[in-house]
Amino acid sequence: MTPITEIVLATHNPGKVAEIGALLEPLGIKVVSAGDLGLPEPEETGTSFAENAALKAMLAAQASRLPALADDSGLCVNALNGEPGIFSARWAGPEKDFNRAMQAVHDRMGDNPDRGAAFVCVLALAFPGGDCEIFEGRVDGTLVWPPMGQGGFGYDPMFMPEDYNRTFGEMPASEKKKISHRSRAFAKLLMALSASS
Ligand code: IMP
Repeated sequence: MTPITEIVLATHNPGKVAEIGALLEPLGIKVVSAGDLGLPEPEETGTSFAENAALKAMLAAQASRLPALADDSGLCVNALNGEPGIFSARWAGPEKDFNRAMQAVHDRMGDNPDRGAAFVCVLALAFPGGDCEIFEGRVDGTLVWPPMGQGGFGYDPMFMPEDYNRTFGEMPASEKKKISHRSRAFAKLLMALSASS
């Protein structure tokens, strides 16, 4: 990979910009956001995490003529054939009500004995010339009911990662960060970036 000195984050979410900026700046990579550059926010029309992340990253790379990074993530439930998956945010509705989204997962699973699920995060790093690299992180676990814990966000209170007896919602952020799908995807990205710098 060609060394990178500046990267566009294809997100309009200031929280993500701050978090990702803090990871990349120690590598000497300057971070600007798609929002700062006035780039449009594309519709997520892909059929997989990788397609959605790649379409956001490629659009930002073409518009800015800089390497661009985008992510897409969600919860994949075995008993629901991988749903809500790329629709994880949408299941919470316009009010972003994750109690409703968790209830929907629970109701649709019914009494299916397979309680397995995984959180998946895909990062796409796109270059203005058209190349795009994908880095995937996942954490496997089981779904519990009722949801437990007030920490984290989204589906965290119903997800118990493998080899733990607490949900993500019951863990301090520092503990979740050690094993999360997002951390695992970023570890792969940072390895590729530091190998090229
Ligand atoms: P996006 O990648 O920002 O589009 O987020 C996708 C959605 O997946 C979020 O709104 C959450 O519903 C869900 N999700 C992704 N990562 C996590 C996580 O670490 N905990 C809980 N929910 C998550």
